[in-house]
Amino acid sequence: MNALYMDDSYLREFEARMESVTKGGGNKFFVVLDKTAFYPDSGGQPHDTGKMIKDGVEYPVVYVGKFSGKISHEVSKEGLKEGDSVKCVIDWDRRYLLMRMHTAAHVLSGIIEKETGALITGNQLGLEHSRIDLNMENFDKEKLIGYVKISNDYINKDLPIRVSYMKREEALKDESLFKLANVLPPSVDTIRIVDIVGLVKEADGGTHVKSTKEIGKIEFLKAENKGKNNRRVYFKLS
Ligand SMILES: [Zn+2]
Repeated sequence: MNALYMDDSYLREFEARMESVTKGGGNKFFVVLDKTAFYPDSGGQPHDTGKMIKDGVEYPVVYVGKFSGKISHEVSKEGLKEGDSVKCVIDWDRRYLLMRMHTAAHVLSGIIEKETGALITGNQLGLEHSRIDLNMENFDKEKLIGYVKISNDYINKDLPIRVSYMKREEALKDESLFKLANVLPPSVDTIRIVDIVGLVKEADGGTHVKSTKEIGKIEFLKAENKGKNNRRVYFKLS
């Protein structure tokens, strides 16, 4: 596995070798590394930013995406070339906030699902606030505020979060592992499972904190109607 964040979401500095550098338009350079801890934009979790360092010169990493199965880093400065070894540093404040947001979204979705049976149809994490979309007919703000309170009670229990892997055939036997847009590419034969122990367990590729206490506290911001049966809930962390 050359996506280092899958097994160690706390890795913020690492050494890697440049597999390829492609020049884009303007001052854009697309870099593929032999391994990376930079998280690419995916699954509702925004990409990391940071820098690569070679011979004391810093190259800003401004975007990270996944294309044809490869993680590509957009660097905004010329000078890197194939075969170079670089030191990479992730902008940790940004990443860590997104990790807290991601685990918080799982906690809140898990509680709402448990309490109402509503299905989660999407989510988008952000630095200021995050949102989850629910397939829910009845919309009751007071109830949603209640679910946030229950979520915070769970968070305060300091539940551990564990990452493990399952064989595809085995994972598919448990429907509850597959929520929302976890559309499985047919080629994937190992499924990564994120388990907030004692609360909710699901197939997921994102980065999470290792215990719920690190989330802090979820604050309900607002809820919106987005068409029939679709409710959008916004929250932030404090
Ligand atoms: Zn997730």
